[in-house]
Amino acid sequence: MTKCPVCNNEMVEIGLTVDGSGLVMRSCSECDTRTWHRDGEEVDLDGVLHDISSVPTRYKRSLSD
Ligand SMILES: [Zn+2]
Repeated sequence: MTKCPVCNNEMVEIGLTVDGSGLVMRSCSECDTRTWHRDGEEVDLDGVLHDISSVPTRYKRSLSD
């Protein structure tokens, strides 16, 4: 489990697939810190939001517990 870099709480991972590219959002329920990763590399939130907004209906999401 990934720890939050801010408060050290456990982060929840949410996987998204955007145009065949795997994205992972890690979200902290304590302080609401979020990090985004694509193909194992951290990405800028702005870039991710741009990608998602360009394909609003074609991504699948799944929760991983
Ligand atoms: Zn946190």
